Amino acid sequence: MPVTEHASTCTLDCPDTCSLTVTVDDGRIVKVRGSDALGYTAGVICNKVAHHTAEFVHGARRLLHPLRRVGAKGEDGFARIGWDEALDEIYRRTQAVVERWGPQAVAPLNYAGPHGMLAGDSMSLRFFHRLGASQLFRRSMCGGVRGEAWAGTYGAVPGIGPEAAAAARLNVVWGNNATVTNLHLVRQLGIARRAGGRVVVVDPLRTKVAELADLHVQLQPGTDVLLGFALATELERLGAHDRGFIAEHVAGYDEYMAVARAWDAEAASGPCGVAAETIRVLAGWMAEADPLVMAPGNGLERGRNGGSGLRAAIALPALLGKLNATSGIVLGAGSSFPRTPARLTRPDLLPAGTRTINILDVGRHLERDDIAPPLRALFIYNHNPLVVHPDQNRMRRGLAREDVFAVGIEVTMTESMKYCDIVLPASSQFEYDDLYGAYGQHFLQRAEPVIAPLGESLPNTEIFRRLAARFGFDEACFKASDAELMDDALDLDSPRLRGIRPSALPPREPLRMATAEGRKLALFDTVMPATPSGKVELVSDLLAGRWGAAARVPGFRAAEERHPLVLISPASDKRVSSTLLGAGGAPGDAPALLMNPLDAERRGLHGTAEVRVWNELGEVFLPLEITDAVPPGVVSSEKGAWLATSRTGQTISALASADARADLSDGACYNDTRVEVAAA
Ligand code: SF4
Repeated sequence: MPVTEHASTCTLDCPDTCSLTVTVDDGRIVKVRGSDALGYTAGVICNKVAHHTAEFVHGARRLLHPLRRVGAKGEDGFARIGWDEALDEIYRRTQAVVERWGPQAVAPLNYAGPHGMLAGDSMSLRFFHRLGASQLFRRSMCGGVRGEAWAGTYGAVPGIGPEAAAAARLNVVWGNNATVTNLHLVRQLGIARRAGGRVVVVDPLRTKVAELADLHVQLQPGTDVLLGFALATELERLGAHDRGFIAEHVAGYDEYMAVARAWDAEAASGPCGVAAETIRVLAGWMAEADPLVMAPGNGLERGRNGGSGLRAAIALPALLGKLNATSGIVLGAGSSFPRTPARLTRPDLLPAGTRTINILDVGRHLERDDIAPPLRALFIYNHNPLVVHPDQNRMRRGLAREDVFAVGIEVTMTESMKYCDIVLPASSQFEYDDLYGAYGQHFLQRAEPVIAPLGESLPNTEIFRRLAARFGFDEACFKASDAELMDDALDLDSPRLRGIRPSALPPREPLRMATAEGRKLALFDTVMPATPSGKVELVSDLLAGRWGAAARVPGFRAAEERHPLVLISPASDKRVSSTLLGAGGAPGDAPALLMNPLDAERRGLHGTAEVRVWNELGEVFLPLEITDAVPPGVVSSEKGAWLATSRTGQTISALASADARADLSDGACYNDTRVEVAAA
């Protein structure tokens, strides 16, 4: 067979959604590199995908056949079975749960494995809606806090595209480990710096992008809101608030500033761990820079003050009136795509009154049976809950219950799959057709399969089509083809599609979401806020209605100091979340714990190779790296490593509380984890 090259798109949980060129030799992927189809990603991709995709698709962990568990939950014993047998058993055991407990005792447990609109959730949700299963609120795990902060302040609209960063005189990269998780933004920052622009990074960790910056504001985790208040106050003192813009376009200014003024640079300096002079320097740079671009990441959302931190950060461009065709905030990209989730996932099939469960509570519900009906059947797909969820030990105890029937649908044999009774082999993203939006840029892409489905694996859409048929769901929507699903995913009449049917979008021709005239989407240029007032809302009754009265105005809650150190868990350059594309799944691959020299000295850890990190929820052994990349009081270790890397079978997810919640979206508080550390 000749070696062939194919266009594709990266589907992993990353804002960039790169266009790819995949080289195939005799039905095997042998090389993946960036393609120039998407100008923004410009032929460059990360090392993770370039070097480890072939192993992910063709490696020893790949699932090729349906399996039935024959050993204990969590262990390796599985036997190959046929598809019919697997579907029959799933139907029989799920029906038994439905008959005894009702359909809400069944729940999907899925997250963000593949980001394709079809594989992510399309036929799958049609199936669960029709079944009447408990619904899952997933956004609390990640992205929900940021999304709510954005939607509450500006509405569900796209901010500026990331390309704008290249022309900015000042880029403020806030809580965004861009070199690892937003690679192509870094290229834009480089262009801006070569043209004389400045880059500021706000992050507790001295990330690689922070090393390149003109200023690194190394604040304590959870204090972003105070930094935002202090900057707002300093900008007012400098006379930099744009009174005309505020009068016309900003709601809640006086109430917001009354709160912010309590935290000027001096007041914020202590809790933030940042010199007042540094805050003043940043305020001065923001006041003078034009264009100004802000690119917040997910780091600051993962704490008790996450929503307030984001709201205080994204308020600043509005106070300065720097929102237009060239200045703005790189957020809300997902809202550039005219999605039609009601058509794609058919919530109208769901019985009225069906409950919704917060994904963070699933471990507790499984362990304690604290809801009625209790959870007795789970479908785990696009997700590795054992590694990703906070309070890993609780999740493990929940998944280990023999009286909970678990179906797993996955590409590779993860540690979570080992807790499933039936495991169904899912095709990788290179084996099916799918449609891709992005959450970091404004281009729609479609990719076709580059190889045939391996073994007996099937795309998620076909797996749920077959499940629907086996359960006797005979509505026409369960027979929809993948092409029909693509056309159900977006509003065909939207001018942003310019008459192109999503299913007919050529794979090498990404479509920029733009106005009917082809102009880029940018707030206060081609898009206006979609809040109830039509203005930028610094104070939000909408958020108060959704998340409680305290969410009306951003605010600061001090940390509970049960242990002396804060553990933050940034993304790794070796994995995408826990999707194994490199080191992260074998003994000896445990990521290091970074600790400031002062904290190491206090604990007598200089010269120590391995440390024990613990709190009341668990204990983890990690190699120690002493470095001033973290400030005193903060330790850091990369998220997503598999349990196999750890000699206690626990990773840092075991140390994060599943019950602590951010101030918006009931969000997870991974970066508020308090721990103590000692020599192993
Ligand atoms: S993980 Fe991100 S940077 Fe890497 S190839 Fe995928 S989209 Fe591009």
